[in-house]
Amino acid sequence: MNTEKLLEGLNDGQREAVKHIKGPALTTATAGAGKTRVVITRTQYMIANGVDPSTILLTTFTNKAANEIKERVIDKIGEKGKLLTVGTYHSICYKILRQYATKLDFNKHFTIIDESDSDKILKEIGKKYSIDPDTLKQAISEYKTQYKTPQQAMQEVDTEKQKDIINGYQEYQDELKRQMVMDFDDLLFNCVKLFELFPDVLAEINSRWQYISCDEVQDSSHLDSRLTYYLSGPNNNIFMVGDDYQAIYGFRGSDMSIMLNLKATYPNLKIYNLGINYRSTDTIVNIGKSIIKNNTQQMDKEVSCGRGVEGMKAVFTTVKSQQDQAKKIVAYIKTMKKKGVPYKEMAVLYRNNFLSRNIEKALMENQIKYKIYGGIPFFNRAEIQDVLSYLKLLVNPYDFQAFKRSVACPKRGIGEKALDTIENYCRDNNLNIRTAIAKDDIGLKPKAKKALKEYVEVIEHLENLSMQLEPHEMIQQVLLCTGYYAWFQEQYKNDNLQEREENLTELVSVAKEYINIDELITQASLYKEELEEEEDAVQLLTMHKSKGLEFKCVFIIDLAEGCMPSFRATSVQDIEEERRLMFVAVTRAKDYLFMMYPQNQQIGGQNKYVQISRFIKEIDSDLLTRF
Ligand code: ATP
Ligand code: MG
Repeated sequence: MNTEKLLEGLNDGQREAVKHIKGPALTTATAGAGKTRVVITRTQYMIANGVDPSTILLTTFTNKAANEIKERVIDKIGEKGKLLTVGTYHSICYKILRQYATKLDFNKHFTIIDESDSDKILKEIGKKYSIDPDTLKQAISEYKTQYKTPQQAMQEVDTEKQKDIINGYQEYQDELKRQMVMDFDDLLFNCVKLFELFPDVLAEINSRWQYISCDEVQDSSHLDSRLTYYLSGPNNNIFMVGDDYQAIYGFRGSDMSIMLNLKATYPNLKIYNLGINYRSTDTIVNIGKSIIKNNTQQMDKEVSCGRGVEGMKAVFTTVKSQQDQAKKIVAYIKTMKKKGVPYKEMAVLYRNNFLSRNIEKALMENQIKYKIYGGIPFFNRAEIQDVLSYLKLLVNPYDFQAFKRSVACPKRGIGEKALDTIENYCRDNNLNIRTAIAKDDIGLKPKAKKALKEYVEVIEHLENLSMQLEPHEMIQQVLLCTGYYAWFQEQYKNDNLQEREENLTELVSVAKEYINIDELITQASLYKEELEEEEDAVQLLTMHKSKGLEFKCVFIIDLAEGCMPSFRATSVQDIEEERRLMFVAVTRAKDYLFMMYPQNQQIGGQNKYVQISRFIKEIDSDLLTRF
């Protein structure tokens, strides 16, 4: 292959970055300057120049981005591109831990706990200590992103309330361990711990992956950066890209100063800057600039427009209410469609999930197809979780949440009390669920015992089948031989049955992509986004979810004080993070940008007058057309 051909269409700065193969590097750039394109082209370029793809590891912010990158590499490089490892930090850590978990006293068949299941555990613990479960959840996550164990955290506290929280943290970890499950933060935490405790493991990992590349580093947490530091290892071949203007996850532990101070971690860091936005029209680039320049805590950047298209002024519309806003959006969508913009190239962005409601209603009434990006993810839907709970239990016989879920669908008459008895018995005797149920002294009523015996027979039957059947055949077996399908039809007969049936059919076909059930349930736990659909539908998504994406036409709604910036943003830092979020939102647009301000909003059940967002006021007025 002519390796230079891969570089066609790139500018000099991008080429230089692409050709950087060895040693640490950071490419900083503005939105739409081709950072992600550089990461992809560089990977193709390395492979074309003889680097073994199995030694390359790429981290991305979402699983969707990971799939896209892999496809684009394979597209140019061919089948050997499949040997590349691409994934989110979570999926990469999961892969590593699956191999080495026993070193941390974890069963290598551990599973990932679903958020709803971990919420249930937190609720119980919260009750015991009289702590709000959300506060507990947030605190535990913060400790983990700071890489602090309960013991370490305990050394730094003095109030009783803080002590309770840390005791709650410890109990939560004990419970997860007992069920042989980890939560999302644990995946990173335990991976770092593994590297710190076992240098031989780290050496193996460093010889497996010799070239590391990370997209969106502006949103790294301290735990992420510790992880990538270990991954880069003695090879020190780490290639990072990011834009500090787009750091939007400070509220959950990301810290953009990590990116700004990378030289302290990697002393011979080579820095590349890309300053040309190729995504958007001049008008949109300038709107982004006029907003972001109001932030004080950032580097100054030269940003220029690469497309050389001035473009239409952005449309700014004031409406009376959110209902009027929805009507107006529909009207604009229809106009854009007539202009030849396909629905899937139109995106409606909002600050909070619930704000999509009025828009959805209006789109539905007008029979315009839409898709909520990151709505209820496919794998999180009730019927999918039900079916997978059986398979989870086959993989991890300690997974109590999977047991509870599967034993209740179909209903087998096992009440809360019996479940508590089993759970306590498992805990006290350190047994897995099936072994515990089989014990005579467990103390269950004969009726429950009989029902559980039948249930165990079903599980054993499935286990035998799993030796010979493919994952998709296993799903069909779960539907039929557990009695699930008959129960399901009855249970959901008045509740979107048809759609749910389609989901189950989809699950069977999704399962065909996996070689074993272990892989399938891993993916189900990690893949938190909607499955890709090729349908032409308007995209509805939060500003946070829009990071890295681009659309021909973008609508930003509810640009009122209290909503954008959020009323929760009180400090200067918070407001600057909101402003970066606004910057991310406007820079998603390639050609057309519409912004809306409803003067009245539903707040706490009442319609209230709200002020126009300060971010609109920051935009140079000659870049806007007001309606
Ligand atoms: P973000 O910060 O939003 O993630 P980014 O820096 O990752 O943006 P990309 O998504 O890689 O930017 O690129 C933005 C758009 O510009 C894409 O459509 C890409 O194909 C295009 N592009 C990148 N480089 C060039 C170039 N040299 N010439 C023409 N188009 C380019
Ligand atoms: Mg990008």
